[in-house]
Amino acid sequence: MNVLLVEDEDRIASFVEKALRRRGFDVRRVVTGGEALGAVSASVDIVVLDLGLPDIDGLDVLRALRKSWASLPVVILTARADIDDRVVGLDLGADDYVPKPFAMDELVARIRARLRPQPDGTSTKLNVGDLELDLIAHRARLTGKIVELTSREFALLEMLMRHAGQAVPRSDLLSNVWGLDFDPRSNLVDVYIRYLRRKVGDDRIQTVRGVGYRIVEPAHGQ
Ligand code: CA
Repeated sequence: MNVLLVEDEDRIASFVEKALRRRGFDVRRVVTGGEALGAVSASVDIVVLDLGLPDIDGLDVLRALRKSWASLPVVILTARADIDDRVVGLDLGADDYVPKPFAMDELVARIRARLRPQPDGTSTKLNVGDLELDLIAHRARLTGKIVELTSREFALLEMLMRHAGQAVPRSDLLSNVWGLDFDPRSNLVDVYIRYLRRKVGDDRIQTVRGVGYRIVEPAHGQ
């Protein structure tokens, strides 16, 4: 699988390139938007695109790329965790969005998910009872109604829902959602779990003492 990595920050690009190569991907790395547009070809399977590039804005690169390569999977990688950019990116046909800082496993999971054939689109949604997470539209629904989530809350819920019914260690949540290997505030995860519980219901997210959290289908409906 050929990955075109468009990232001007050398430290991040090296880290991503090495990690992808270790997992068997072929990686071509470019630094500018201009180079990226020149490097796209039929042999590229997926593009990992940083938005903050030295020449052309990443979103303009995406726009230009979409004109000739409408179905090429693109994963946006960026420090701009701001919802507007994300919406713009997805409207332009980015397939997924990974905010920096990110955990490498998370990025690899997103790349693999985009490369996997999705004939009926079902694999892009996660369901636990009447709670549904649409990973492409980045939207959560509870009994059909949209639940507004921040990008961190979404990532946290996604991680829990990918392991529905299992206890997910606090340290795994911290590394996958925040890209951190220690908790700078010592209760970051717990604070966000509280936000999530307020939005999706207390009984859905159980505390597993001394371990972390587990998402379940509530026993008695709403
Ligand atoms: Ca950059």
